[in-house]
Amino acid sequence: MFAAQIISKKRDGATLSDDEIRFLIEGMVSGDVPEYQISAWAMAVYFQGMNPDETANLTRCMLESGERLTPPIPSAGSKAKLRVDKHSTGGLGDKVSLVLAPLLATFDLHIPMLSGRGLGITGGTLDKLESFEGFRCDLTEKEISAQLETIGCVITGTTPNIAPADKSLYALRDVTGTVPSVPLITASILSKKLAESLDGLVFDVKFGSGSFMKTAGHAKELSTSLRNTAAAMGLPASSLLSSMEQPLGEMVGNACEANESIEILKGQGPRDVRELTIALAAQLLCATHTVASRDKAVTSCETNLDNGLALERFIQMIEAQGGTYRESIPLAPSQPILAVDDGWLLSVNGNDIGNAIIAMGGGRTVATEPVDHSVGIRCLAKIGDEITRGQTIAECYYPKDGSNHKSIHGQLASAFKLSQSPCDAVPLIVEAD
Ligand code: URA
Repeated sequence: MFAAQIISKKRDGATLSDDEIRFLIEGMVSGDVPEYQISAWAMAVYFQGMNPDETANLTRCMLESGERLTPPIPSAGSKAKLRVDKHSTGGLGDKVSLVLAPLLATFDLHIPMLSGRGLGITGGTLDKLESFEGFRCDLTEKEISAQLETIGCVITGTTPNIAPADKSLYALRDVTGTVPSVPLITASILSKKLAESLDGLVFDVKFGSGSFMKTAGHAKELSTSLRNTAAAMGLPASSLLSSMEQPLGEMVGNACEANESIEILKGQGPRDVRELTIALAAQLLCATHTVASRDKAVTSCETNLDNGLALERFIQMIEAQGGTYRESIPLAPSQPILAVDDGWLLSVNGNDIGNAIIAMGGGRTVATEPVDHSVGIRCLAKIGDEITRGQTIAECYYPKDGSNHKSIHGQLASAFKLSQSPCDAVPLIVEAD
């Protein structure tokens, strides 16, 4: 078999066999197939796509390039605990994982969440959790298993042995314009999630200006591919499409989002974060038959947020991973962003907000950059809200003497566009499968 022939075959729109896909992926990992050929193949996939069988074969091959977490072992007289997780395609202010993992753990499920750091405009769950001093995101497989047994949930970085093929392929896609390919994204996400040895998975596929799928149509295409490929690999999965036309909740930024998560875990905080978290939890609770109906799942989730049970689990998780829990993590000094006109909030530009956070040091453009956890923004208006000139529409957490303060402030102010006539609120959850 020759890599050049396989690349040409995909370039011309033909279907690749399992052996051909395996030849390329195994060759990439061993170094036998050079990066320039893998990059050319990724570009051919970008233009020609892959059918469901090819996508499943690629996913399997990437999964098998590494190890899986050991599945839970049943103890004497009782069944093994069911393992579940959620994958979000990422968006501004998306702090759902911080709430969802401990919430699901209160239902006696195990949640081994292997998460990532932020890159570009969307933040990373690990960066948010590292706002708690001392929090460790480098747990070993042994530590993950032990914490699942004691607390039920873990949020940590992927171990080096999980899907190494994805690490190599993603690094090439990132610099060759081949990230936005549905089959490549599907195989990348699922090879890591399947390595968690799960019994159920839910996808939160975002669309809109603050996410990387800009339209609901593209998000739907990705969500169908993720669900079908998971099913082909024997993993029951469901999905939600959720809007990222504006940040989720009010807070965007690492410690800002950790603080807002604590609010939700206390049964308070913005309604949209609570609604989405509960909708995702309910899908997993129903899929695993942990509760009898969706209504019961929703009510039980509300109860476990309101009575402090989920918060208790969260604190246990933070402390078990070496972090110092605090009810409110200190933020950089804040300045208000005022509306310059009367009107109705028409749109919130997610790219502008994400880029302003990067400029404040709260996000990164290269994977190795450190982040400042204390900076961020609080958005105090939602699309459709009536706005009065001089009203505080946002607060920016960034020192007044920080570099580029003025331009960052200007960029944030211009992210909020007003209309002179009333406009509709934007629904959060568009579709649930
Ligand atoms: N997230 C991933 O893990 N992989 C992709 O390819 C895109 C988003």
